[in-house]
Amino acid sequence: MRQPIIAGNWKMHKTAAEGQALAQAIRHGLQTDRVEVVLCPPFTALHAVHAVLQGSSLRLGAQNMHWEDAGAFTGEISPVMLKEWCRYVILGHSERRQHFHEDDEMIRRKVAAALRHGLAPILCVGETLAQREAGETGAVVAAQTRRALEGLTPEQVVGIVIAYEPVWAIGTGRAATGSDAEEVIQRWVRGTLAEQFGTEVAQRVRVLYGGSVTPENIAEFVCRPAIDGALVGGASLRAESFLGIIHETARAKA
Ligand code: PEP
Repeated sequence: MRQPIIAGNWKMHKTAAEGQALAQAIRHGLQTDRVEVVLCPPFTALHAVHAVLQGSSLRLGAQNMHWEDAGAFTGEISPVMLKEWCRYVILGHSERRQHFHEDDEMIRRKVAAALRHGLAPILCVGETLAQREAGETGAVVAAQTRRALEGLTPEQVVGIVIAYEPVWAIGTGRAATGSDAEEVIQRWVRGTLAEQFGTEVAQRVRVLYGGSVTPENIAEFVCRPAIDGALVGGASLRAESFLGIIHETARAKA
């Protein structure tokens, strides 16, 4: 039985004070313990949000990290620094791949480093519009999944969360259909996991959909057994919409 999970990726939004207020509103409005809720603020708000979440079931995540423990990497944050506060870390987000030129090898190193330090990666995979139109969705998603997890043991892989996020659906208001997302997740994410690590692992890993999720469309995704929740960008920046997504998920998975 996989626990549903809703993670909010705040991206480069919210000061520490704003993040604290948002986290407080989410904590106070949360009416379910069926769904694991993860807040991923920017680095500068981690400390403030951590203080708000203490004693609650809400979890904290970061949005990125370097794979080295320490060193001459100006501007970077290491897993050793994050593990003081975070349980999760988003890795391989398409905005990191696109704007910061992260490739599969860098993401593989990050995933391995996170696991080495007890952080659970939320690994993002997904095709661009051009790749989709060229009929490459399955090959892209399978390759990103396989390469990110190379060298890991099955025991490590079950602790990972994978978010299938078609790049064309992120921040565009144009979500995938539930059936498209389900097919990619079932065939290319879980299928790749099954080839690489066996069917038991493929069934145990939690896989999310991400891309223009709202309280109005979340049920379309989480009503499907293969989809365990969502990674939410824009709609995670307001307590009302984020709580709506969480509560709809709890209802759909009841
Ligand atoms: C994201 O940033 O991972 C995301 C899915 O964004 P949005 O919900 O805004 O499309």
